[in-house]
Amino acid sequence: MGSRLWIDLVNSAPAALGDFLATDDGWHRWLRAAGLDAGAADAMRPQALALRETLARLFECLRTGSKPKPADIERVNDLLAAGAPQPRLAWRGGALVVEEHRPEGAGPLAAIAADFADFAARHEPARLRHCANPECSLVFYDTARNGTRRWCSMAACGNRSKVRSHRLRASAVSEG
Ligand SMILES: [Zn+2]
Repeated sequence: MGSRLWIDLVNSAPAALGDFLATDDGWHRWLRAAGLDAGAADAMRPQALALRETLARLFECLRTGSKPKPADIERVNDLLAAGAPQPRLAWRGGALVVEEHRPEGAGPLAAIAADFADFAARHEPARLRHCANPECSLVFYDTARNGTRRWCSMAACGNRSKVRSHRLRASAVSEG
């Protein structure tokens, strides 16, 4: 799992591991790895798939500065509305007070949408990138101070690329 919930959802079908959202079991495992409530999540899997497509498109819009599709904004807005705390009156200690009430059943998708909304308001487009490994489908947000990260992770793709270029160099030397 990376740094942001919404980017982790976009990355939930890595080429090397398969699609976590293809089965209820995989979806539960993904939710637990993301630290989200996996209870009663089965019914949400189709919406999770749709949200992943929406967020993947929004990733490209943020990265390139292009205008998002209204339907994609609407999908995120619906989830934000579903997860937003509602003010409620309650009688406490002989007085009326206002309490914040979190709607039940908003669940993990609302949390992912909230993470995206929070991110979208203050991202740096140039730091949104695709992994430099052409066989890798993952995206990331580069939080390194110098902003020169090229791989989804050093372990998964960075080292592989190093080994490959080392091999290429070695074979070039031996052939030469
Ligand atoms: Zn990668």
